[in-house]
Amino acid sequence: MRLEKMPIRLKCDNGCCENFAEFQVVRKGTPASARLRLCRNCLKELSRLYEESVKTEAQNVGTNLGNGD
Ligand SMILES: [Zn+2]
Repeated sequence: MRLEKMPIRLKCDNGCCENFAEFQVVRKGTPASARLRLCRNCLKELSRLYEESVKTEAQNVGTNLGNGD
């Protein structure tokens, strides 16, 4: 899977986002018409949310193990 710059102008796939997509996810076996296309804002926000959820997960694991540190 890789991230590519959009070769054409299409809308961002994220819900009601009105921006044009700047990047697309190119995945082996996925037809061009079914690629995930996102604008810069949505991609950045998704990345931030992912980082946040991974941190939260790590903290929760620490809590569940009873590790006070
Ligand atoms: Zn967007």
